Amino acid sequence: MSHDAHGQPEQVAPGVVRLGTWAVNWYLVADDGGVTVIDAGTPGYRRQLEPGLELLGRSPADIKAVLLTHGDLDHVGLAAHIKAVCAAPVFLHPADAALVHEGKRKKTEAGFLGALRHRAAWETFAHFISQGALRTPKVTDTVALRPPETLEVPGRPRVVHVPGHTDGHVAFEFRAHGAALVGDALITRNPLTGARGPQISARAANVSSTQAMGSLETLEGLEADVLLVGHGDPWRGEPAAAVAEARSRGIS
Ligand SMILES: [Zn+2]
Repeated sequence: MSHDAHGQPEQVAPGVVRLGTWAVNWYLVADDGGVTVIDAGTPGYRRQLEPGLELLGRSPADIKAVLLTHGDLDHVGLAAHIKAVCAAPVFLHPADAALVHEGKRKKTEAGFLGALRHRAAWETFAHFISQGALRTPKVTDTVALRPPETLEVPGRPRVVHVPGHTDGHVAFEFRAHGAALVGDALITRNPLTGARGPQISARAANVSSTQAMGSLETLEGLEADVLLVGHGDPWRGEPAAAVAEARSRGIS
């Protein structure tokens, strides 16, 4: 596994840095216009930001936008902090706004209790709690993403709607960087079961797994040399090959 267990930043494509830990990823994408932050980990990951920016030869003043793939706690932790310190707008799909604005969660398809038979789920929850996930500050104003659209922020990502994990889940295709950031619509390590390989998130974490399976069709059409996922190592190769594996694995 290339990703440092202690959370050292790693360049995963030219101008793209992966931050986070074995438990969850967040990313920086840089171009001449500045830096876009994609997802925001947990509050305890704050120390990763400056070393990550340094890998790109940048500083916090270069951050122009924070993009959220979805509104779950483990992807929102530092959004309020970066918004305040860098005066960077936070972009989010309106269907996930209640999650981030008010902390209001929609019921997932299956309860978390079932997931607790897996050791991996305990380890994940313990890690997130130790990293302050339950103290994630709310972001009360976000800019609405309107997929399909291309955002005029560093990297100029194309935004696509890939619901299922949450109603407002989106993916970002950074064509010039050859990278697509797909959040929890497709992951390569399941934080609840520990299973590795391309797959959709577990039923206990999804609003609709059937819808998540359907969204794979959108991911299949992305143009990218690498898929950067919410949980697990990067997938290098055709997005269609990752989608084929996720389809054969099905719903867990
Ligand atoms: Zn997640």
